[in-house]
Amino acid sequence: MSVSIAQLAQALRERKISATDLTRQAIDAAQQCADLNALITLDDTGALAAAERADRALAKNVGSTLVGIPFVHKDIFCTKGIRTTCASRMLADFVPPYDASVVEQLAGVQAVSIGKANMDEFAMGSSNENSFFGAVKNPWDAARVPGGSSGGSAALVAAGIVPFATGTDTGGSIRQPAAFCGITGLKPTYGRVSRFGMIAYASSLDCGGVLARSAEDCAHVLTAMAGHDARDATSTNAPVDDYVSALTKPLAGLRIGVAREYLGAGIDAGIGAVVQAALKQYEKLGATLVDISLPNAALAIPAYYVIAPAEASSNLARYDGVRYGHRCTDPTSLEDLYTRTRAEGFGAEVQRRILVGTYALSAGYYDAYYLRAQRVRRLIASDFTDAFKTVDVIAGPTTPTVAFKLGEKSADPLAMYAADVNTVAVNLAGLPAISLPAGFSEGLPVGLQLIAPAFAEARLLNAAHQFQLATDWHARMPEGVA
Ligand code: GLN
Repeated sequence: MSVSIAQLAQALRERKISATDLTRQAIDAAQQCADLNALITLDDTGALAAAERADRALAKNVGSTLVGIPFVHKDIFCTKGIRTTCASRMLADFVPPYDASVVEQLAGVQAVSIGKANMDEFAMGSSNENSFFGAVKNPWDAARVPGGSSGGSAALVAAGIVPFATGTDTGGSIRQPAAFCGITGLKPTYGRVSRFGMIAYASSLDCGGVLARSAEDCAHVLTAMAGHDARDATSTNAPVDDYVSALTKPLAGLRIGVAREYLGAGIDAGIGAVVQAALKQYEKLGATLVDISLPNAALAIPAYYVIAPAEASSNLARYDGVRYGHRCTDPTSLEDLYTRTRAEGFGAEVQRRILVGTYALSAGYYDAYYLRAQRVRRLIASDFTDAFKTVDVIAGPTTPTVAFKLGEKSADPLAMYAADVNTVAVNLAGLPAISLPAGFSEGLPVGLQLIAPAFAEARLLNAAHQFQLATDWHARMPEGVA
C-alpha cells in the first residue's frame, strides 16, 4: 500500500518520523534502485540540509502539508548551484545561477528535493530513451520504457522512492509516463504554472505540473506550484482555486464526454476495455456519459509535430557554444564553433527536430507548414470549446498502448510520435488534463485521461479523487516495492 502525502505530513507533525529520517529513507531507496537510472543527480547534502530546516519548522508547528516531504525535480527546472542538464550533453556541466520559479515555490513550502530526475533530452520523446544519461527503466517491467519525457519522475514515484515529482508536459510528457507507470499525472492549464527557469522546448505548449500517486497528492502539490509570476509573460493571474477542498465534492450530475475519436481504431483492445470499465465506474458515482465528437482529433499529431519542432528550433538556437553549455575544442572559425558544438552537444532526436523545425519556418515553406499547422491548432481548440458546451470533462485513454519495450520504437520516429495520439491536442488547446490509473492490460498499468476547460484543474482533481476513493488502481505497486 502506498502512503499519501497527507499521511506523511501527519506522521511528521506527530513526530512519528522526522523529515531528516524520511529524506534519508528516500535517498537510500533511490540508491538501491539505481538500476532504474531514474536520477541524473542525487543531491543528498542539499536534501539533508533542507530536511533539517524542515524539522525546525515542524518543531514550531508551522507551514503547509508539504513541509519535510521528499520529492524530485525533473532535470529541466533550473536549480541554483545544482547542475541542470535537461538530459543533454549540451548542458551536462551547466550549473544555473538561479532557481526556476517552481523550484522556489516548492523550496518555499519546505518540501525537500533529493535530486534531479532523468528525462528525454530537452523533453523531446515519449520513452525516455533520448537521454544523454541513458534510458530509464519502467519499475513494472525493467525491459520496458517508463514513457517520456518525464520518465525519471514517473519511475521514481511508481517505485515508491518519493511521493511526488515535478514534470513538464509539452505534448503529453506528464500524462503518458504517469499512464505507463501506474501513477497520477496532472498537466495544468497553459500559464497556470510559471515557466520561469524551466528550460524551453516549445514555449507555446510547455507546461509544468506534477506526478504523484493520487489526485489528492497532486492537489497538495499544485497548490504550491500554481499562481501568477511576473517573470513569465504568459503566466496567468486568474485566481488559484482551493484544489484540496474541491476533492470531496460528489460527482452526481457530472457530464463526461466520451469522444468517439479517442476510442476508435489504433487503440489496443485491452486499453479500450479498461477505459470502458472506468466509465461504468463513473456512472456508478453519479456521472452521465455523453457521446461526443472531436472531428479534428486526427490532425493533432501532424500539427503538433510541425509547431513543436518549429518552436524548438528557435529556442535551441541559443546553444551556440559561446555563452554557456558545451563548446567544441579548438574551433577553427565561428562557423566551425557553431556546427561542431551543436553536432556534439545535441543527440539525434534533438537534431532531427531542429532540422524539421528550421525547414518548416524557412521562407517559402512557412505558409505551407507552420501557418497551416497554426490554423489546424485553432480548429482543434474549437473542437474542445464546442464539446465543453455540453460536457464538463472529456474522458478517454491516455495512451493507445501499454508501456512498450525498450528499443521497440527508437529506430522509428513516426511510430514513436504516434504514441502521443491522445495527449498532444490538449497542449495545442492549452487545456488542463489528468491521467489516472484505471486498470491493467497485459499485466501493465493503463491510464484514463480526463480533460477539462481552461482553469478547471479543481474539477479534474475532484473527478479523479472520487474515482480513487472507489477503486484501488492507484494504490497498486510494482512487485518488490513496499
Ligand atoms: N512526446 C512528445 C514529444 O516528443 C511530448 C513531449 C513533451 O510533452 N515534452 O514532443
